[in-house]
Amino acid sequence: MKLPVYLDDHATTPCDPRVVAKMTPYFTERFWNASSRHEPGKRALEAVEEARVRAAHLLCAQAREIIFTSGATEANNIAIFGAAEAYRDKGDHFITSMIEHKSVLDCYKHLEDRGAKVTWLRVDRNGQIDLDELDRAIGPKTVMVSIMFANNEIGTLQHVAAIGRLAHEHGILFHCDAAQACGKVTVDVEKMGIDLLSLSGHKFYAPKGVGALYIRAQGPRVRLSPILHGGGQERGFRSGTLNVPGIVGLGEACRIAESEMETESTRISLLRDRLRVRITDHLDGVHINGHPMERLPNNLNVSFEGVEGEQLLSSLEDLAVTSGAACTSASVEPSYVLRAIGVPDFLALASIRFGLGRFTTEEEIDYAAGRVVEQVVKLRALAAPKNAKKSGRRSSGLVETKESS
Ligand SMILES: *Cc1c(COP(=O)(O)O)cnc(C)c1O
Repeated sequence: MKLPVYLDDHATTPCDPRVVAKMTPYFTERFWNASSRHEPGKRALEAVEEARVRAAHLLCAQAREIIFTSGATEANNIAIFGAAEAYRDKGDHFITSMIEHKSVLDCYKHLEDRGAKVTWLRVDRNGQIDLDELDRAIGPKTVMVSIMFANNEIGTLQHVAAIGRLAHEHGILFHCDAAQACGKVTVDVEKMGIDLLSLSGHKFYAPKGVGALYIRAQGPRVRLSPILHGGGQERGFRSGTLNVPGIVGLGEACRIAESEMETESTRISLLRDRLRVRITDHLDGVHINGHPMERLPNNLNVSFEGVEGEQLLSSLEDLAVTSGAACTSASVEPSYVLRAIGVPDFLALASIRFGLGRFTTEEEIDYAAGRVVEQVVKLRALAAPKNAKKSGRRSSGLVETKESS
């Protein structure tokens, strides 16, 4: 087992070796520009089109509805600014949630600064929006609702199909950031009534710097004004020389995801449950953040009472995990997602997000669980020696508080 144990798959995933193998020739002997009219150029374009079919298939879309981007950030920007511009005649009202990724939140803040009206939907304790509240927020000037498929911190899944139904009943667009969901859970743009969908290669075993935007072609046909101008690639939606190796890699990642998602998600969710049980069995004062059931198979987000987040993370340097604290230049702030679901600041600061993936092993999970329990017990004992007995429950071989001095 290699240390540190990597449990941060929501931040990024390693490339699958099959993805790398498929990409490799496109850096060297097949280096061609997919826009060139000559024979080699056409072969590069064929590889791109094969990837487009794969990506479309994963989403139950058609190939012509996929454009390639540099990632989900760019896809979200194209969707939001593109729709805002193209539908100016219809209105200037947008709806989103408070727990979206920064690349959605900040697009809407920018639109708001420029005079648009944005409704920021709250979420409940589990991280889900209220459909009645969404229904009430929709007005005659509403252009679009942007709600993520799955949250990158707490893993909560939204009731995407219900949101799509509501959006279409009211004749507004539904944009869905599915960066965390693609390749992990079933995404079907038809059944779910999604009009625009963003995905990111590096969140499911393709490289960084490649992603895609699904743009519905009919029922309704979505119009977008481009935000990048130039050579007119990707049907004018996204100018710029295509990242052929990245796109080929993304296509392969989509193919693998489609054929292996079911068994893989089962395996990973069992590992995740094992991690959760090992932690909750051995510690009191542990809170699971996010929805108890409706969450990504690879996500666990836990807050620990009676420890300081910074201290906990720095005592766990052999685990690559993320805490619920966001470091700004001046201070450590609790995550806005945890705040939005009502987690008090002291618990948000003392939280850990675990992101499991394709390459996570049982051995790594057992090691991580053991280390977390060990360190929480230790830090609690240091913080409040009198309360130490309460914090370690059912002590077993797993929990050994080794006092180092
Ligand atoms: C990672 C992520 C993004 C950004 O994707 P990039 O490809 O890194 O730009 C957007 N939304 C969510 C939910 C993400 O997890």
